[in-house]
Amino acid sequence: MTIMDVPPVLNPAAAHNDSLRDLLHGLYLDVCAAHEVALADADATGRAGADRAGEDEVDAGSRAAAHEEQLTLVATLYARRDQLEHALERLNRGEYGRCEHCDRQIPAERLEVYPTATSCVRCKTAFERR
Ligand SMILES: [Zn+2]
Repeated sequence: MTIMDVPPVLNPAAAHNDSLRDLLHGLYLDVCAAHEVALADADATGRAGADRAGEDEVDAGSRAAAHEEQLTLVATLYARRDQLEHALERLNRGEYGRCEHCDRQIPAERLEVYPTATSCVRCKTAFERR
């Protein structure tokens, strides 16, 4: 068998990166869409609050509570979008999957559960104890 007989194989690392990019990008688009909806909802509730004609105190109270919940959701989705953007940038730079603190490889099992993880469990735990 010569080198010519070896069938061309896909670089498994490159193929892995492509499916990762698809996964992260898919998540990113989902979060962007959810963020826009949440923002529009919060906006509508906020505007309803500015025009309080015919609204009693109970209505005003539950509207304020709903608005607060919507704003929390907006903030959560915004942070999530940021994380996904960051993960995609790191993937483009070839840094994806490495701990930002100790530069060790983050275990694949952790990345499967938290695709946007930027630190290994050890560094993350150390961080949280501070
Ligand atoms: Zn680490």
